[in-house]
Amino acid sequence: MKLRTAVALLALMLASSAPLAQQGGDTARIEKLKTTVVESVEARRKLAQVMNDTVFSFGELAYQEFETSKYLTDVLEKNGFAVERDIAGMPTAWVARWGSGHPIIALGSDIDCLPKANQKPGVAYRDEIVPGAPGHGEGHNSGQAVNIVAALAVKELMEREKLSGTLVIWPGVAEELLGGKAYMVRAGLFKDVDVVLYTHVSDNFSTSWGKANGTGMVSVEYTFEGESAHAAGRPWRGRNALRAVELMNIGWDLNREQLRPEQRSHYVITNGGDQPNVIPPLASVWYFFREMDFENIKKNYETGNRIAQAAAMMTNTTVTRKLVGTAAPRHFNKTIAEVLQSNIERVGLPAWTAEEQTFAKAVQKVANGPQDGLATKMRGLRPPAENPESGGSDDIGNVSWVAPTAPLFYPANIPNLPGHNWANAIAMATPIAHKGVIAGSKVMALSMVDFLTRPELVQAAKTYFTDVQLKTDKPQEFLAESDVPQIQINRETMARFRPEMRKFYYDATKYETYLDQLGVKFPSLAKTQ
Ligand SMILES: [Zn+2]
Repeated sequence: MKLRTAVALLALMLASSAPLAQQGGDTARIEKLKTTVVESVEARRKLAQVMNDTVFSFGELAYQEFETSKYLTDVLEKNGFAVERDIAGMPTAWVARWGSGHPIIALGSDIDCLPKANQKPGVAYRDEIVPGAPGHGEGHNSGQAVNIVAALAVKELMEREKLSGTLVIWPGVAEELLGGKAYMVRAGLFKDVDVVLYTHVSDNFSTSWGKANGTGMVSVEYTFEGESAHAAGRPWRGRNALRAVELMNIGWDLNREQLRPEQRSHYVITNGGDQPNVIPPLASVWYFFREMDFENIKKNYETGNRIAQAAAMMTNTTVTRKLVGTAAPRHFNKTIAEVLQSNIERVGLPAWTAEEQTFAKAVQKVANGPQDGLATKMRGLRPPAENPESGGSDDIGNVSWVAPTAPLFYPANIPNLPGHNWANAIAMATPIAHKGVIAGSKVMALSMVDFLTRPELVQAAKTYFTDVQLKTDKPQEFLAESDVPQIQINRETMARFRPEMRKFYYDATKYETYLDQLGVKFPSLAKTQ
């Protein structure tokens, strides 16, 4: 080799290797932090199980998450977080903060459960702990354990490494009614937040970006007012509010033929009168109007209002409406989803035992679903669908329009179950949930390390939010200034069941797990008499 060529080559090597070496050093350092934080989550396996099982045993309905919130905020306070309680007009809502400066990373997860989903965990058959009571038939008992364990591991790392940043932990209150997050957004909770990481229970690991599958919605209760009368003696003196409800429902159901196939709408009659011999002077019906985008939600909501007016005219009654909840269609952040996905691939699915697989298949059989057991394959990050599929809603949508947000779905439940059902509660205080929570927690902690150590990622998330998301779509607000959280909902139901449920709250000082406390030998495949 000629000397000149060798010198040129050397110069080239030096020029290109300097930044590489620096980046290499950074990569090595970040890699070390990541190894440490995973170990730190692993060391909190017991805490994760206790939090998961404790919240499971509380089984609290939307807006009534008092025990859950007290317990979780106590854990956070004991670990150095500053807690603000009773926020955004909801006594069970709170926010916990630790650290200082940017990036501000907000970790959210829902905490409420579902009516009549009370179920003994770890048994592959229907068995209520308290008959008729609420229960975690979606698995919202697990998400805060995922977030808090991850946050504690990251906090420890930040203290030791002197990393700047703020961790914010918040609960999804009344998610099952789509009744909490819009108010938290309105209260300014996400104003300075750089990154929102939202966890939700699932039967596999996944995340997504762009327009999500599923719908946004408006939840509204119509109340008709007429006049009572003796239903046999002087029925002509009455004006029947229940008839107005019936006419509204007939009107809406006939109108379905003219709606887009993507819409979803459903109702329950919340007040159908008192007794047959009194013409009902008051009657109420509660609707969910769901659609894929803001325009169509608004259109169907207005159609609903018009049909309600028409029903009132036909029955000579009057109608008023009350907004119960609202959820914006979701749009998730590309950068955040990519970060989550890279860490999902690093952590991988939990290793399920043969026993857990057998149990999962037995539960799938009871629930009449395909019997293919627990997830063993992940589907990878895909670009958003051109035409997203319709389905349920989640008011994380509202958050996704005020701060860069992406969801982490973690594998803590059994696939092929009906959803919003007692069968979905069965695995949620068993080793299946415990493993899924820890796996999810590792992904959360690793992703936080990425955002804390690589400011370019926070910047990229912001750029996507302002230059892509907000440029392609404009959010609409369905909440009026006068709307307030309907925190009285479920109060009576919860008061009725709580004394009996309290006897079964998990006592972690006496029992290793909630299954131990209940005397359940996991897995129990069939009822033994
Ligand atoms: Zn949910």
